[in-house]
Amino acid sequence: MRLSRYFMPILKENPKEAEIVSHRLMLRAGMVRQQSQGIYSWLPLGKKVLDKVNNIIREEQNRAGAVELLMPTLQSAELWQESGRYEAYGKEMLRIKDRQERPMLYGPTNEEMVTDIFRSYVKTYKNLPLNLYHIQLKFRDEIRPRFGTMRSREFLMKDAYSFDLTREDAIHSYNKMFVAYLRTFARLGMRAIPMRADTGPIGGNHSHEFIILADTGESEVFSHKAFTDFEIPAENTDFDDVAGLQSIFDKWTSVYAATSEMHDEAAFNAIPEGDRLSARGIEVGHIFYFGTKYSEPMGAKVQGPDGKEHPVHMGSYGIGPTRLVPAIIEASHDENGIIWPESVAPFDVVVINMKPGDAACDDISEKLYASLGNAGKDVLYDDSDDRAGTKFATADLIGVPVQIIVGPRSAAAGEVEVKDRKTGAREVMTLEAALNRVT
Ligand code: ATP
Ligand code: MG
Ligand code: MG
Ligand code: MG
Repeated sequence: MRLSRYFMPILKENPKEAEIVSHRLMLRAGMVRQQSQGIYSWLPLGKKVLDKVNNIIREEQNRAGAVELLMPTLQSAELWQESGRYEAYGKEMLRIKDRQERPMLYGPTNEEMVTDIFRSYVKTYKNLPLNLYHIQLKFRDEIRPRFGTMRSREFLMKDAYSFDLTREDAIHSYNKMFVAYLRTFARLGMRAIPMRADTGPIGGNHSHEFIILADTGESEVFSHKAFTDFEIPAENTDFDDVAGLQSIFDKWTSVYAATSEMHDEAAFNAIPEGDRLSARGIEVGHIFYFGTKYSEPMGAKVQGPDGKEHPVHMGSYGIGPTRLVPAIIEASHDENGIIWPESVAPFDVVVINMKPGDAACDDISEKLYASLGNAGKDVLYDDSDDRAGTKFATADLIGVPVQIIVGPRSAAAGEVEVKDRKTGAREVMTLEAALNRVT
């Protein structure tokens, strides 16, 4: 992509409305724009990162055996009257009427709708287990939308829903998502800690919030420090291995971790003082086993091996991609801007032509742009006529992992400078060496 043809509206000034660094950097880098309170457009640079995040989530959901579909944002109120949540949900739900005066709503979540799909088609335990997910916009009329897309009113959610004949099977489905989540957050360059969350009237201990530590997080969290050494499950994890998955779950829940709502002071104080971690965190995912809470009132039943009908045991599994993007930035930035983990960087490399119009600079820059592109790299080519200082600042701000700087003096000698965004290390090398370094 040539910067001169791209749409990346960089802000020079620090936006006043941004209270936290990720919000500030997303606005300055031209990733998002607020359209009305808590409702955002994702501009091209932001959209590229968001797509990468979604794809990692999708790959790990698929690996764990979940099946993607797409449900609408607008839902009929009828379904929610069946489950009893239409009244109960309260003011976070945006209620709308269509031209026939039929009550509709903008879905804040999809348990009812997916249960309706399930009950319409699945009649026997032989078609279980089943896990259906989608990545779709949600709307919650939050009292205090803030921090940009970290807490917005319209936001993207990956929500998965599992269906099983028995509680035992449902726990295996839960463990699959537990493992998928550990892998997903690790691939996004973050260490998320699964923390016990409230299960309300359902009871049991199968509700976990996945929390990323950050000073700006809205949750107060308490945990053992041991999590930093726990191994992330491998790519070839066998998701059908019931005992294997259970042992991963057991390991990751073997030490204390809870948010303030579930905090047990005595249990926390039993941890040796040096191993205690009391911090703030961001909820990036939440998984929940809720049994027959929706299948019972909505009549989602399957025939079991005993020939009788049984309401299915369900769980739901959410991740917030539009919250994850700022969460990644909170965890990875410096005073000059964003430092993207390679897995979600909007571009693999930026080629900075310091002096467009200079024959040697143009020649080398064009060669790099073409060769890197041919090698399958996603390249941003800064061919703009901005001052060199502005170009360097922009490249640092948008956080692309590798910068190749083409200046008139070195270009005349067939050389370029390669800069690593994360370490700041710079090295002068030949064009060929630079190509080898990056591809
Ligand atoms: P919170 O406690 O932050 O309000 P929640 O517990 O209400 O979140 P869930 O219903 O568990 O959220 O939804 C699943 C995931 O969706 C959350 O873990 C989070 O990543 C994301 N999410 C929820 N609300 C928002 C929001 N207003 N803006 C962006 N992402 C959100
Ligand atoms: Mg909420
Ligand atoms: Mg929450
Ligand atoms: Mg939650």
